[in-house]
Amino acid sequence: MAGRHFLQIPGPTPIPDRLLRAMHRASEDHRSSAFPTLTRSILSRLPHVVHQTNGEHFVFPSSGTGMWEAALVNTQQPGARLLAVRFGQFSHLFIQTARNLGYHVDVIETPWGESAPVDQIEAALAADTAHEIQGVLLVHNETATGVTNDVGAVRAAMDRAKHPALLYIDGVSSIASLDFQFDAWGVDCSIAGSQKGFMLPAGLGILGMSEKALARVATVTTPRSYFDLRPMRDQNARGYFPYTPALSLLFGLDDALTMLLDEGMDAVAARHRRMAVGVRAAVKAWGLHECAKRPEIASNTLTAVVMPEGQDASRVIDIAFKRYDVSLGAGLGELAGKVFRIGHLGDTNALTLAGALSGVEMALVDAGVPITLGAGVGAALQTWRVAP
Ligand code: PLP
Repeated sequence: MAGRHFLQIPGPTPIPDRLLRAMHRASEDHRSSAFPTLTRSILSRLPHVVHQTNGEHFVFPSSGTGMWEAALVNTQQPGARLLAVRFGQFSHLFIQTARNLGYHVDVIETPWGESAPVDQIEAALAADTAHEIQGVLLVHNETATGVTNDVGAVRAAMDRAKHPALLYIDGVSSIASLDFQFDAWGVDCSIAGSQKGFMLPAGLGILGMSEKALARVATVTTPRSYFDLRPMRDQNARGYFPYTPALSLLFGLDDALTMLLDEGMDAVAARHRRMAVGVRAAVKAWGLHECAKRPEIASNTLTAVVMPEGQDASRVIDIAFKRYDVSLGAGLGELAGKVFRIGHLGDTNALTLAGALSGVEMALVDAGVPITLGAGVGAALQTWRVAP
């Protein structure tokens, strides 16, 4: 098809030309005396993305899923008890990963489309007077439903319960897009991947650890090898990695950090907010509703749109892809066929989204959903035009 493709899934996101160029490099010797410059440039700047001064950051050749494992096996003893909220496919998979590793997870079941119930987290922790629960697992931005949690409120609940559990935050679809306050929220492990807010291909797992979490690395006895932070810390301190790093992705990450930090993380978050407001206006104008049950929990990185009763979202996604060159995210888990997801994170802007929303509108009409062509796009343009 002539023209450009609109990759409007919530990750991987479009890669800016600048980052494609940064990665288009010959391989280099990752044991050379020059190599530490790159390692240090990345590891010293990653904390700024999440406002972290307490602890360290690590980069693995991995995806986000691997960082769930890395975070747990380096900080939790075998069979430890953890607390998690399930409110979408990614929180479900985080729980599954912990269970696959032999951890015991107490799960707070929450309707998909809702946010994590802070009162229930607090009650569970307050009831655990023996402090058996060693960690709280929370997905900051549930990519399956388009819901963002208030991590600061969860930290406040943990503090009110005076509970010492570590706080693990999956920020795969929030970090480098939404405001993320590692220090202020008392996060112990932050988990990210390269293919969303960092605007790179998949292939890097990014892990932030607090001093409190790092203190556990040396003492936990959980078997680990590839994700063992001990050799990683040792080598990183000298500017190297314990095994062959994903070099081209590291060149890309280094430049992505320059892009993000030059723009400023507050400006990055504000830009994502602005894009999201327009997409939500479009959904409203179509007469459809979002999977996120309340406006205040709606995500600024993606919007999951619920199909009218009896209509299959997969059909809209397929029409959008085949006829209009727009990729939309599918419904996952119990939302399969019920929602389609519009990614509005990373390297995108109002006009790109206007094009993508036009494709969505045509696909909806083709699939038999009674909307007026231009209604959603017009509503979005109004928000983008008047927004500062
Ligand atoms: N957590 C969240 C919130 C995600 O959105 C994803 C992927 O989309 C993952 C974890 C898994 O990350 P990956 O696909 O990079 O392994």
